[in-house]
Amino acid sequence: MDTTILLIVANSQTGELLDRGVLAPAGFRVTQVGDAAGAVTAMRSSAIDVAIVESAVGGVQLAITLAETYPALPLILIASTEEQTQMLDALRAGVFDFLTPPLKPDAILDVVQRALNKRQRINTWAKENNRRNTDILRQRVSLLETLGKVGRSVTALLDLDEVLKVVVDAAVELTGAEESSLLMLDENTGELYMRAARNVHDDLVNTFRLPVSDTLAGEVVRTGKPILLDQESPKKIKTSYLVKTLIYVPLEVQERIIGVLGVANREQQKSFHQRHIALVSALADYASIAIENARLFENTEIERKKLESILTRIEDGVIVIDANEQVILANPMARAMFKHSKPAALPCALEDCFTHDQLLALIRDGHDTFPYRVELELDDERVVNAQLNLIPEIGMTITLHDITYFKELDRIKSEFVSTVSHDLRSPLTAILGYVELLERVGPINERQRNFIQRVQTSVRNITELINDLLDLGRIEAGFNERKVSLSIKNLLQYSVENLRSPLEEKKLTLRQEVASHLPNIFGDSVRLRQVIDNLLGNAIRYSSEGGEIIVVAKEENDQIIFRVEDSGCGIPAADRPHIFEKFYRASNVVENVSGSGLGLAIVKSIVENHQGRVWVDSIEGEGSAFTVVLPIEKETN
Ligand code: ADP
Repeated sequence: MDTTILLIVANSQTGELLDRGVLAPAGFRVTQVGDAAGAVTAMRSSAIDVAIVESAVGGVQLAITLAETYPALPLILIASTEEQTQMLDALRAGVFDFLTPPLKPDAILDVVQRALNKRQRINTWAKENNRRNTDILRQRVSLLETLGKVGRSVTALLDLDEVLKVVVDAAVELTGAEESSLLMLDENTGELYMRAARNVHDDLVNTFRLPVSDTLAGEVVRTGKPILLDQESPKKIKTSYLVKTLIYVPLEVQERIIGVLGVANREQQKSFHQRHIALVSALADYASIAIENARLFENTEIERKKLESILTRIEDGVIVIDANEQVILANPMARAMFKHSKPAALPCALEDCFTHDQLLALIRDGHDTFPYRVELELDDERVVNAQLNLIPEIGMTITLHDITYFKELDRIKSEFVSTVSHDLRSPLTAILGYVELLERVGPINERQRNFIQRVQTSVRNITELINDLLDLGRIEAGFNERKVSLSIKNLLQYSVENLRSPLEEKKLTLRQEVASHLPNIFGDSVRLRQVIDNLLGNAIRYSSEGGEIIVVAKEENDQIIFRVEDSGCGIPAADRPHIFEKFYRASNVVENVSGSGLGLAIVKSIVENHQGRVWVDSIEGEGSAFTVVLPIEKETN
């Protein structure tokens, strides 16, 4: 390759002399520039081996600046003898040599050659240095790759044995040791046993047992500090186990030492250093993480099995569905209830698991309140109480409780009550009849009249109760229903008219918020009148004088919403879930408010017979709001 010399000369005569007269004939390529800027451009655009700079261009200072900017480039300065003191500064700043006029070809060539030799030495040194650095980098990359591989194994491999094998293999590979072993502490015996090893004889692996006291590995367990052993003569660290050099580092989990990772040389006298300790410690950390992960995984697995066994054995059905309508859990009871006998291929799409219409509707229909409860009738005529709940970040659960027995009990009770009530009605009518006749058959005094009136009131109360009971029996049995298309608005007006006097008696204001247009619904007018009468009647009875009652009727999502709000005594939270049960009277009932506890049971039965829902919101001491939701004009049975 050509050797290029840069001439930075002010005087073209000097340039010519150097170029044509000396350098070109000697075989050098010459680039000539006349100022500092030209020098910088030339330096950037081509490879310059030596630069000769004339002080006339930028003074000695230019040479100094160039020497500092390009320290690997030999620089020869041409200056006059008067500039001798500055020349010394230039040499100190790194200028290679200088020439003073008159310039002699031999002297020029001699200084150029020496400069080139220097350039050569710099190049050789730089290459060697580069090679060394690259080697170190390469080693580091390979080391990082091995550590990375171990790290990936910790997260990718589920089998702890495999991970620990990767760790001991890497320990040998990274330290150049003959063997590596991973010792674990046996909590029961307090001894160390070999959990994984590389290049250790199987017999030793299987029989290895080391007490924690009086051994090197034990010391690491006790102190939590690494040990580096570098001996001329082999040291016996256990009977029949001789090593020359060794490193032991602790395996630590949650500030507890659970074992030791070691590398050792038995034959070769290869020393270990601090960086080896750092490497083995990094591997020990990976091993500790893998051991802890395995322990956590095992615990989770045990907990999961426990939960699974509970879910398998409980008498209730449990179904869990995720946000994508995938069944992620269905216990055997739930599967049995809905005849879903497929093996546990979960998760599976909802419809592949269950086909029961009511169940699918329960899951898919939007609900406002949670837990949402509904009764489902199974194909084998059993009835279950289904409770739907939302679980954040998972989806929803449905728990199913078999209430067939209670339903049957309820039915028998109703049947009994209805039979007895029926049989009681005739004698009561007779009593009432004869009491009325008493006055006609002879004179009676004031006290007797008072007693007769009391008998009449009591008999009427009993008759009313019996009528309620009979009504409830009929409603529950679904008898006597004559469903037609009707307007809730009209029914409401009748009720309000009938309740004028009790409203006035208690000085209550009734505010009606009824939508101007309300679609018809399909229902039994007598029964729905009962619903309105009962709810309004209760609002009046449980309000104190001067209160306000608000009746709301509106349409929303194909449904009629009918609500009666009062500012009365309210219902205690503990009673609220029970007030729709037969004969239930809440603890808020004041003495002078009479009642049988049947009104709301009748309301609920009628509403449900119309495919509707009724519920109460109440704040004790502030009032209650009963809401009835009925579907709009839809033929129902
Ligand atoms: P009752 O004949 O006792 O009124 P209901 O079945 O109509 O029977 O009501 C059951 C219970 O619910 C009542 O005893 C009362 O405790 C409570 N209740 C019903 N309506 C109201 C209301 N508007 N305000 C407060 N409590 C009420």
